[in-house]
Amino acid sequence: MTGLARRPERLAALQKTTFDVLVVGGGITGAAVARDAASRGLSVALIEREDWASGTSWRSSKLVHGGLRYLQSGALSLVYESLAERERLLRLAPHLVSPLEFLFAVLPGRWVSRPVLAAGLTLYDWLSLGRGAPRHRRLGRRETLAAEPLLAGAPFSGGAIYRDARADDARLTLENVLDAAALGAVPVSRVAFQKPLRNPDGECPAASLRDVESGTVFPVRARVTIRAAGPWSDALRRTEDAAAAARMRLSLGAHVTVPASRLPVARAVAIPVESSRLLFAIPSGPVTLLGTTDTEYRGDPDAAAPRPEDVAYLLARAGEAFPSAALGLEDVVAAFAGLRTLRIGRRGEVARASREEILETSPGEVSVAGGKLTTHRRMAVRAVDAAVAVLGDAGARARVSATRDRSFPGTPEGPFEAFVADFVRRAAGSGVPAGAARHLALRYGARAEEVVSLVRETPALARPIVPGLPDLEAEALFAARSEDARDVSDVLIRRTHVFWQARGQGAEAASRVAEILRAELGWTSAETEQSRARYLAEVSRSRAAVATRV
Ligand code: FAD
Repeated sequence: MTGLARRPERLAALQKTTFDVLVVGGGITGAAVARDAASRGLSVALIEREDWASGTSWRSSKLVHGGLRYLQSGALSLVYESLAERERLLRLAPHLVSPLEFLFAVLPGRWVSRPVLAAGLTLYDWLSLGRGAPRHRRLGRRETLAAEPLLAGAPFSGGAIYRDARADDARLTLENVLDAAALGAVPVSRVAFQKPLRNPDGECPAASLRDVESGTVFPVRARVTIRAAGPWSDALRRTEDAAAAARMRLSLGAHVTVPASRLPVARAVAIPVESSRLLFAIPSGPVTLLGTTDTEYRGDPDAAAPRPEDVAYLLARAGEAFPSAALGLEDVVAAFAGLRTLRIGRRGEVARASREEILETSPGEVSVAGGKLTTHRRMAVRAVDAAVAVLGDAGARARVSATRDRSFPGTPEGPFEAFVADFVRRAAGSGVPAGAARHLALRYGARAEEVVSLVRETPALARPIVPGLPDLEAEALFAARSEDARDVSDVLIRRTHVFWQARGQGAEAASRVAEILRAELGWTSAETEQSRARYLAEVSRSRAAVATRV
């Protein structure tokens, strides 16, 4: 079975098959684990209790980066691995991961001086040696100001330009799921892991699952379970032992977006703030993304949301670096927050805690959490290696991962820019304007052809979801038909970027998108209204942090 159509068939397959591997959690980690395991020829089920990437994996800073600041803590192997994966993703997934130039501005009294920056970037270059990345360029104060005039009035002493990359985090997750399906895995969203069903010897050959849409509870059989539940890892352990002590530490990271016209940075800017951290200002189409905070979080992961103090902090730090922009609460387009999953250990600031992954093995189970979006593929290789060891003889045929040089479902043949130019030329024949065609090619790669064919069938679908933004109504239909979108939020938050890029966060578009989904998914009027209302509640959660001045 391939693809993400026909949910009922996938659900039935979950109940009929004895799988080698059950993967719990459809964020980037679980999706990559399923892809890796399927690439080795194992039979794989992947379940996610909500939408793909609906946990942490759409709430990142959307960078695929070495992590310059981790050099400060001596995490050389993490930086080295990240740089290798960055270059690999640029090559294998050019529609999902693209180069991003950074200006690093040094502010006196912060944790990076000019000599420390020069040493760090030299090491960064050295660690990516031979991978084709350009070397960094150091700048004096005047050159830094010429590179970024918005820094005028800030007390910076100089800077440097270097290259990293950005990703569409939610769509990178989705393409891992799509590829896992293409390799034979059975991925089903809106199915929750309830508890393990153990043998008398303590092993766990089965688990009790719940179809969130129908409420039906059913068992699944699998030789090994790989838990990839991110911030919900402790909650998953407590499905069996309600009193189990916490093993993870969580840190809340918030972002805000402001209109690009209010902070038109020429390239991404990194500004050192306290606790060895950086504030990023990242140009992202119609908005500039500002992030992030890093504060200990002890509450329920489901309730994590940006707080008024997070928004105030980000605006204050941006105000120090870009005083002339005079950003205020009224400029904020959207706010969102996610949780970093960190190893519990020594006390101290979460910002200084290790970003290495947490991999644990027990009879019949592997648990993997933490780490980075950037290193998802390598984390998956290690988690599946651990699962193969747990499988013993049954895993003997599955020793080698085949993801190292494997492209993604949307990866086009040949050089990416040539593909985009050719696609735009061909789409013009279907009446798709060049701007829209370019947008589709950059977002979907070779799969953009399928979206254009929807426009060919129904030309009205070429309308933008929100006037002034590139996202098309055809994308909402494509999301429901071919990308497992089952809610207005799936379309507006994760398949497109309307939630964090549109003024008003697309609240006015929710009815129209709900109608498109109703027609495709056969919803009743009540279901259509509930889906619209859920999206508006997400928008309210985002606005709540902006509504209060602290
Ligand atoms: P998640 O994405 O949280 O996935 C876990 C999934 O498990 C969830 O979707 C959840 O719904 C599901 N789940 C939970 N319980 C159950 C259950 N009972 N049954 C079924 N499913 C269940 N990394 C980078 O490389 N670059 C960055 O720029 C970057 N920026 C970041 C910024 C912030 C603010 C944060 C918080 C992290 C950032 N990271 C970044 C790290 C990166 O985002 C995370 O490492 C990654 O997204 C974690 O993915 P995951 O799959 O482990 O967790």
